[in-house]
Amino acid sequence: MRDEKKSKEHLIRELNELRARVAELEAGRDGHRRVEEALMQSEERFRFMAETTGDVLYQLKYRHMKYDYMSPSIRKLTGYTPEEINELGFANLIETIEDVGENSLSMDVIAREREAGKTGEYHADYLVRTKEGKLKWLGDHSFPWKDASGNLIGSVGILSDITERKGVEATLREMNQELQRLATLDGLTQVANRRKFDEFLGLEWRRTRRERLPLSLILCDVDHFKLYNDTFGHPAGDGCLLAVAQTISRCVKRPMDLVARYGGEEFAVVLPNTDAHGALFIAENIRREIHNLKIPHPQSSAGSYLTTSCGVSTIVPQDGCPPKTLISLADEGLYEAKRKGRNQVVMRHQALPQ
Ligand code: GH3
Ligand code: MG
Ligand code: MG
Repeated sequence: MRDEKKSKEHLIRELNELRARVAELEAGRDGHRRVEEALMQSEERFRFMAETTGDVLYQLKYRHMKYDYMSPSIRKLTGYTPEEINELGFANLIETIEDVGENSLSMDVIAREREAGKTGEYHADYLVRTKEGKLKWLGDHSFPWKDASGNLIGSVGILSDITERKGVEATLREMNQELQRLATLDGLTQVANRRKFDEFLGLEWRRTRRERLPLSLILCDVDHFKLYNDTFGHPAGDGCLLAVAQTISRCVKRPMDLVARYGGEEFAVVLPNTDAHGALFIAENIRREIHNLKIPHPQSSAGSYLTTSCGVSTIVPQDGCPPKTLISLADEGLYEAKRKGRNQVVMRHQALPQ
């Protein structure tokens, strides 16, 4: 791949050198015949090189944005001859220009940049529509084209078919996104995992601190779950956890909110921009809806159905106060709910500074 790029750059350099030599000879009035000979020789060598490679070499003149030269192999790539391309305007074949870095620009913008004195090379990935109506990706690698006195004429460059590479890149991107999703998901309950919870809480903590908005947390723990497993077995327990997770997710409706499995039979709900009143309302809803599932739990001291206890906390994050303050407060509330007999919601407020 690198060798191929090197040889393309070499071709372009060679083409430029030959052109410069011709211009030099012309300038020196070194005899009409010698100029013609050199020109023929250069054209012949260049044509041979241009026509034996699958890629398209071009020279684009900025004056009319027309191609002074374009390898005939453009026809294999687009279905159009170089003449047809000039008639249509290459820019009109382009459907999309993909951002492949800061130098990924449309041809006319590149032209303006070069005219403004930018000397660098440019890369751009163009999605073009061929004469047959198919879509193809063409990679463009271009350099400034100058005359012997250093005045800008246009650009020289190479167009290559990169459709296959683009396809592989798109598949890789999709696979990465799926991996990312799986890495943040709890396999059993299909809600976010602990890792995602930690990351999300950290981000929201900083954001709400900046914006001086409240951030709430609900910790929700299944009551006497060990007894449930002991009575019905672990697989039934797993089914229960899935039902609990789905019920919590149904009670949490805003896209900003996050439901996560905090660990074992404990779930966490992060509610950005939500005050204590709103968080209490959601927690109570969760508790009630889980009770309403009417999952039999005859061994429970909290009733005959599966229940949960919730601890709730709300903070407007401040400097010098870490996110774990919110977790500790919700945990205290949860402990209190358990102590008071389970199947209930307890809110814990931050002690005001003395
Ligand atoms: P409490 O009301 O005080 O919360 O009592 P508890 O029995 O729910 O609490 P404890 O911490 O004593 O037990 C938690 C149980 O949750 C024990 C563990 O086997 C069960 N558990 C944790 N993760 C899973 C899981 O993925 N599947 C199943 N089936 N059980 C789990
Ligand atoms: Mg429990
Ligand atoms: Mg627990």
